Amino acid sequence: MSVLQSFIAGQWLGETPARALPSAVNGDTVAHTHEEAIDFAQAVDYARRIGVRNLLALDFQQRAAILKELAIYIQGRKDELYAISHHTGCTRADSWIDIDGGFGTLFTYASTGRKELPSGNVAHEGPVTQLGKDNHFNGTHILVPRRGVSVHINAFNFPIWGMLEKFAPAFLAGMPCIVKPATATSYLTEAAVRVINDSGLLPEGALQLVIGGTGDLLDRLEEQDFVTFTGSASTALKLKSHPNIMAKSIPFNAEADSLNSAIMAPDVTPEDDEFDIFAREVVKEMTAKAGQKCTAIRRVLVPAERLDALVERLTERLDKITFGNPAEEGVRMGALASRDQLRDVTDAIERLLATSECVYGRAEGLKPVGEGVENGAYIAPHLLVNRNPLNDGGAHDIEAFGPVTTLMPYHGIDEALALAAKGKGSLVTTLTTRDPAIAAEMIPVLAAQHGRLHILDAEASRESTGHGSPLPMLKHGGPGRAGGGEELGGIRAVHHYLQRTAIQGSPTMVAAVTREYVRGARVIEHDIHPFRRHFDDLQVGESLLTHRRTVTEADIVNFGCLSGDHFYMHFDEIAAKETQFGQRIAHGYFVLSAAAGLFVYPGEGPVLANYGLDTLRFITPVAIGDTIRARLTCKRKIDQGRTSPEGHPQGVVMWDVAVTNQHDELVASYDILTLVAKRQ
Ligand code: NDP
Repeated sequence: MSVLQSFIAGQWLGETPARALPSAVNGDTVAHTHEEAIDFAQAVDYARRIGVRNLLALDFQQRAAILKELAIYIQGRKDELYAISHHTGCTRADSWIDIDGGFGTLFTYASTGRKELPSGNVAHEGPVTQLGKDNHFNGTHILVPRRGVSVHINAFNFPIWGMLEKFAPAFLAGMPCIVKPATATSYLTEAAVRVINDSGLLPEGALQLVIGGTGDLLDRLEEQDFVTFTGSASTALKLKSHPNIMAKSIPFNAEADSLNSAIMAPDVTPEDDEFDIFAREVVKEMTAKAGQKCTAIRRVLVPAERLDALVERLTERLDKITFGNPAEEGVRMGALASRDQLRDVTDAIERLLATSECVYGRAEGLKPVGEGVENGAYIAPHLLVNRNPLNDGGAHDIEAFGPVTTLMPYHGIDEALALAAKGKGSLVTTLTTRDPAIAAEMIPVLAAQHGRLHILDAEASRESTGHGSPLPMLKHGGPGRAGGGEELGGIRAVHHYLQRTAIQGSPTMVAAVTREYVRGARVIEHDIHPFRRHFDDLQVGESLLTHRRTVTEADIVNFGCLSGDHFYMHFDEIAAKETQFGQRIAHGYFVLSAAAGLFVYPGEGPVLANYGLDTLRFITPVAIGDTIRARLTCKRKIDQGRTSPEGHPQGVVMWDVAVTNQHDELVASYDILTLVAKRQ
């Protein structure tokens, strides 16, 4: 008899079976939770002492590199996870969202971390603001690891993705995690944590696993800790109002159930491709993971005159969905995650029927197919119609967390918007329209109450990732009833786990703390040209002030002929006189090119490539006869552990460039990005 184990303070804990966890597919026991109590004081102490220390011995870039290796490792063992996943009721396609989606999120965060985080453990969130008239006093923001523990309480529907989408940003941010999966499907999370442990990639203390309840864990948390929760609105409320969480202002991110809608705009007719695309999306969202996605479509808003046609189209599609044991050939929809869940969904449908009628699902006598289904957690897709949706209650309040959706007829765009708003804050809405003007009218209104909006027309449908897919690079979470939290969204998710702090001081102090050169800070000047220095030797602040160059009319004419840019401002004396500059001026791109000519070291050296410019501004015009020069300063170094295609190690160096004129006025300002070789 297999007993699941918690992983606490570096040890697997639990031998005595407690609660039996049945397979959603056939009711057989998959595993038991364990009886042994967890010492949560030990767990948080271990995370803080060992986990924080080991994580902060690495920097952002190194942790990003580990995430990538971990993703590759899990990918290599994914079949073991698929073999267990079907017990949660999933078809192969459903498991793909959880398993491939899980390590896919690690890949994305590995890459986001490498591109957007610095070396070290201080992230500078600029720009620096000059606070004093003479630039002796500046202000900016830094983001630093919180040096606490991150507790993740997850839902039953995504045992792997749910863990990894929160773990990835927390790990990047340098926070050790204590993960508590929903008990019903915790056997799959436990299997994933064993795979992660086998990889040997994570530093000790980075990840602990709780099977079963959280005991006094929340009482043990401190000000530097973080809690993130996914599940029902009622549990979210209970946990976020926990006295210790409130007393210590411990950040609590909630992602709760949400009454997401899909809106067919009034311009879409049954003859349009969009009509069918819309029907396909609704059925996909009803049946993927048997409707157990926080993002699934619960309410379908349809112009009243199209209601019957849409019911017909949805029925045709639903008739093609075979549901039952996911191991069975041809099954397109599996089971709910547990029989408890089946009871909840059946009960929710009963309550929904007080305000709606069932047009598909009950009368058809639909039955699940396959072995053992009589003991599994199966339910047919249910399509309901609420003919008086302007009344409160019903599907505006009740979430049947299964393959259930309620159609609501509306009259006019304003009514559609009012109905969508009755969800009181949702994770996502799909709007299907052919008309950009309708999208432009509706989306900004919908945005006030939604976390994500998906505009689906024939063009987007060719590549759409779908209504129900939270993507690592886009925000997941919604206001109000949806919990008010935010997850994912690229680097933003990492920032949630970091402390943002304003820093004020002289430019030299701000540069020292941020490890980023700030204009006005002390510079380091020596005889060796900065472009002749290897990545390892260069210091932030190393700087070169170039010789001068007087800009002539010949420069402007030559540059115009070379580039083909004969804009009147450079070539038409009369027209230029009437502009705000009152005279011909040099091309901005000439100034840029001339500056490169001033600061570049022409010989072979460790600077390998210039791959772009950031923050370019032309500030003061350069007229014929003006004399310019440039200051080039090493602004930031990022060691991504990369090598050139030939295998030579290299790093990224950002240079600050300030071009000034004979009055020391800034004429152009920008950052250049280069790759610089390390010493062999
Ligand atoms: P719950 O809110 O009951 O559980 C979510 C998580 O919280 C689980 O890990 C659960 O653990 C844990 N939990 C519950 N009570 C406590 C507590 N007092 N202290 C600490 N942890 C606790 O949601 P369910 O997973 O049971 O699902 C119920 C409903 O939630 C669904 O029917 C659906 O409406 C909604 N839901 C929303 C999701 C979303 O992504 N927004 C996802 C899944 C569900 P345990 O399992 O051990 O009780």
